[in-house]
Amino acid sequence: MTSSKHAATLALHAGPRSDSATGAVAVPIYQTTSFQFRDTEHAANLFALKEVAHIYSRITNPTNEALELRLTALEGGAMAMTVSSGQAASALAIQNICHAGDNIVSSTDLYGGSWNLFAHTFQTMGIEVRFVDPTDPEAFRRASDARTRAYYAETLPNPKLAVFPIAEVARIGRSLGIPLIMDNTAAPIICRPFDHGAAIVVYSTTKYIGGHGTSIGGVIIDGGNFDWEAHAERFPMLNQPDPSYHGLVWTEVVKPLGPIAYLIKARTTVQRDIGACMSPFSAFQFIQGLETLALRMREHCRNAQSVAEYLSRHDAVTRVIYPGMHKSKEIDRRASVYLNGGRGGLVGFELAGGMAAGRRFIDALKLFYHVANIGDARSLAIHPASTTHSQLSEDEQRATGVTPGYVRLSVGIEHIDDIIADLDQALEQADGLSRAA
Ligand code: PLP
Repeated sequence: MTSSKHAATLALHAGPRSDSATGAVAVPIYQTTSFQFRDTEHAANLFALKEVAHIYSRITNPTNEALELRLTALEGGAMAMTVSSGQAASALAIQNICHAGDNIVSSTDLYGGSWNLFAHTFQTMGIEVRFVDPTDPEAFRRASDARTRAYYAETLPNPKLAVFPIAEVARIGRSLGIPLIMDNTAAPIICRPFDHGAAIVVYSTTKYIGGHGTSIGGVIIDGGNFDWEAHAERFPMLNQPDPSYHGLVWTEVVKPLGPIAYLIKARTTVQRDIGACMSPFSAFQFIQGLETLALRMREHCRNAQSVAEYLSRHDAVTRVIYPGMHKSKEIDRRASVYLNGGRGGLVGFELAGGMAAGRRFIDALKLFYHVANIGDARSLAIHPASTTHSQLSEDEQRATGVTPGYVRLSVGIEHIDDIIADLDQALEQADGLSRAA
């Protein structure tokens, strides 16, 4: 285990130095469902949580554990659990502390999949999600009551790319005994939400952490920095006997292992029951991605900054959306407080020619891929009004930050000259045809 504080080193060295069984330096893929018990006493102890070892790969697996240890170290957290997707990460993170009849307060600036989960699927389960505008952090306090179990937000939500006021909302939550769950998918390395008071961090590892567009996955990381026992009435699921685990109380039983009651409960109840686990093969892919994450993020941020500057000088572009280039000084201030070493790899912009120009621009791209994804090493682009947001009315689209001519770029790590050349020729085609029309 390295003592380094640097992300680039932790991503390569955190966790065991080599495989304990074989000495293998690259983390082996433990493609096994189950792990043999030494004897019946060993088996009984593992099930009673008296000893800790691998039992069954739905709950833990050595390959996944290696990824979990590295992500925990990178985030400065206490323990992590890999899951099958980013969607599973947000769903399980909330279900771990929320019953029917409870509520959470969420930022309105959300990935569409999270919005659907919160506004529709959770509603059918009796979990209410109260949406508030994050430009006013106090809105979180006003929406809270005795049944509020968590606050939820994204660090760098697209398409608005307005950085979330993490410390401000975490502080309000802590004064009421409510933990802040941050989806940090778009800002690994450049933001560590635990440093600003978040209690839980979730990721879609599908994006920057994987980085190569090969696997779907997610992770829940427990900051180990929230006192669940001090707010026992708000968190009965952690502080009262759990009938699904012969009446044990999670905050009491887990105490000798450290401040990880939330994570251990997530693993041994919701993951046990829902089964949204990550395959060891995918965990291996994410470890490969993680090892170069710091390097890639540097390039993503550098290239995206250059793209944003280039676009802001282009005649066909009416507006560029990039952290640090907002009209609001407060939002730009948040970008400089919460993002370190770069402003992320996502860039939005609006074309003067509206919907038709947006579509023509996408069709003219040669280097950028036209996909509904972000965070790949390759450059990606999408026109939300005709794709991801097409089911919304134009007014609803505007409320989420999508105008007819809005284009979202996930800037990759290709040479910047090739990225700009592709944008240049596509803008010329989109704009030239707009003028001719
Ligand atoms: N969170 C954010 C910010 C995302 O962008 C996405 C996917 O685009 C998700 C969560 C969901 O991740 P996954 O596709 O891995 O389920």
